[in-house]
Amino acid sequence: MKATIHQSTLEIVQGDITRQETEAIGNAANAALAGGGGVDGAIHRAGGPSLMSELKANYKGCPTGSAVITGGGNLEAKYVIHAVGPRYSGSPKDPGFLSSAYRKSLELCTQNKIASVAFPSISTGIYGYPVEEASRLALKTVMDYLKDHPEIKLVRFVLFDSNTYQVYEEGLKELTKVQ
Ligand code: ADP
Repeated sequence: MKATIHQSTLEIVQGDITRQETEAIGNAANAALAGGGGVDGAIHRAGGPSLMSELKANYKGCPTGSAVITGGGNLEAKYVIHAVGPRYSGSPKDPGFLSSAYRKSLELCTQNKIASVAFPSISTGIYGYPVEEASRLALKTVMDYLKDHPEIKLVRFVLFDSNTYQVYEEGLKELTKVQ
């Protein structure tokens, strides 16, 4: 499903983030930037060892709610944006951290002249963020950013399983109705 947000496209698809041909892909990283399971493991496996060596050489971890950038190694994407979402705790701080992880990732796109980016569903796997809530926040944050940033032409959410895809689809329908 696709929606036009001002001059940009917001798209949601079901698929594998490691196979996207967007200029950048987002990663759901941890604060230590240590690699791990889930989408993080898949991206490091597909991208090869240069991702980890760049992370080690340039960053001493990354705070929750922020993001750092590396090259894409063996991936089609030229860049990987390693964003650190919150581990869900039910605290009132969770939404701010999640939204900020996406916003900082988009700011890195702007700074690096990246016009197309694909994101996984940050924090909704091992980190346990309820998908209904996380999807609305993710979509809303991207929509708000695109309103002021026409330089980003395409943002695509790549959802791994059909349930997550469906929840994002409902969210996008809901949010584009009230625009
Ligand atoms: P977090 O620790 O931020 O919760 P996870 O990697 O555990 O991150 O999960 C985030 C989401 O990424 C989950 O919905 C998971 O199903 C999904 N995911 C796992 N592998 C891939 C992949 N190759 N492409 C896209 N999404 C993926």
